[in-house]
Amino acid sequence: MNCQELIDQQNNFFNTNKTKEIGFRIKKLRQLKDVLKKNEQVLFDAIYKDFKKSSYETYATELSVIYSEIDIAVKNVKRWSKVKKGVASLLNLPGISYSIPEPYGTVLVIGAWNYPYQLSLCPVVAAISAGCTVVLKPSEVSSHTSKIMAQLINEAFEPSFFTVVEGGVKETTALLEVKFDKIFFTGSVAVGKIIYQAAAKHLTPVTLELGGKSPVIITKDVNMDMTAKRLVWAKFLNAGQTCIAPDYVLVESAAHDEFLLAMKDHIEKANYTIENDNYTQIINDKNYERLCDLINESKIYLGGDRDRNDRVISPTILRDVEFSDKVMQEEIFGPILPVISFETITEAIEKINKLPRPLSCYVFTKSKTIRNKVLKEISFGGGAVNDAMMHFAEKSLPFGGVGNSGIGSYHGKFGFDAFSHQKSVLQKPFWIELNLKYAPYTSGKLKILKRILE
Ligand code: NAD
Repeated sequence: MNCQELIDQQNNFFNTNKTKEIGFRIKKLRQLKDVLKKNEQVLFDAIYKDFKKSSYETYATELSVIYSEIDIAVKNVKRWSKVKKGVASLLNLPGISYSIPEPYGTVLVIGAWNYPYQLSLCPVVAAISAGCTVVLKPSEVSSHTSKIMAQLINEAFEPSFFTVVEGGVKETTALLEVKFDKIFFTGSVAVGKIIYQAAAKHLTPVTLELGGKSPVIITKDVNMDMTAKRLVWAKFLNAGQTCIAPDYVLVESAAHDEFLLAMKDHIEKANYTIENDNYTQIINDKNYERLCDLINESKIYLGGDRDRNDRVISPTILRDVEFSDKVMQEEIFGPILPVISFETITEAIEKINKLPRPLSCYVFTKSKTIRNKVLKEISFGGGAVNDAMMHFAEKSLPFGGVGNSGIGSYHGKFGFDAFSHQKSVLQKPFWIELNLKYAPYTSGKLKILKRILE
């Protein structure tokens, strides 16, 4: 089936209005959860083949996240879909006004490889809960997970409702030729621009979940042991291949050495070594080479061990880094952490603000003044105070970027909203009409109009 035939089929099914029934959406969400639950072991096996991600990490950071999104949607979709009352203006009384959330229609979800299940299927959960039909294109880079998702989903669902199309640039380009009603993309800034341009041709709305260099600021008054413990987890989970991972650290100069020692201690405690089978691989040779190229040997404080055959790089901390260094010119997306010291918070904020607006920002401090200054003066997608990455688990918060790190957001109700249009309606009875709006327009009418409107 070519792309146009596929989308025609999905449009036809959407036009039956079946997906607008709440019962249908709940049934399909439960079906998706069932398929995943029944096949957990094959899902674990596939991701291990892609980049040796452990079952623990896969469950904790992928499957459980999808299950939770499904549970929240099943529980709330009826409420989210309710008509919302407005307040009719004086001019329209005794009319009533309201808005109806309606599904966009047939949507395209394009996934990234670093959390291949979660980044593909959480947007799908949101799209199904909103009442859309879905074409999912997972990343071809994580080929085993892409294949297993295609196999399981295409066996379980009708292609006219939900289907997986596998492929890379060629196949995605072909999909982008046809008109979808919404495109939800997760990936790099460079490809995000290609998607946005393709969507513009059809005036298709987009959500773009992109990346960037997410900074960490640490002041000297923190609990350094806890700070390092939280940062080691956030930075080296998935071998640093996380869009919201701390990209670089700005630490107050008086606490610089204490910070390095605490990081060393917690990296050792976590047993993140290249020999450890629970330490995730770099996804492919291209990224392995790119990361090795970012390591300036003369600046290694810790780590730098690597194995080309196994595509692993140990947690690597670089010290005395400068903003002009190569490692500061692009999103790292791997287990390398540059550390830069600062004297004043104003100077640290100025440096961060010279780079494009990040997806995340983390500040570790006991100072309320510094916390408020950072939150006020740095624009970022989302973040945390005295922690890193855990804001992702807050389902009541929208997840998304700003500026170069993305457009729009999702998770929970925000995901439902990302795939819904708010249709606004004014409803009036026939029995009365304000004659003011009808010609001829006299000076008397103008006086009354002014009295009403001012
Ligand atoms: P990528 O942009 O290379 O690929 C993403 C998707 O786009 C894949 O499905 C791929 O097949 C497709 N694609 C690639 N080139 C294309 C082209 N020329 N035309 C059309 N489609 C194309 O990104 P990636 O390497 O998979 O992921 C890494 C990036 O994604 C990082 O920048 C990371 O920060 C970002 N990311 C963001 C989030 C988020 O939630 N904001 C989550 C994960 C990753």
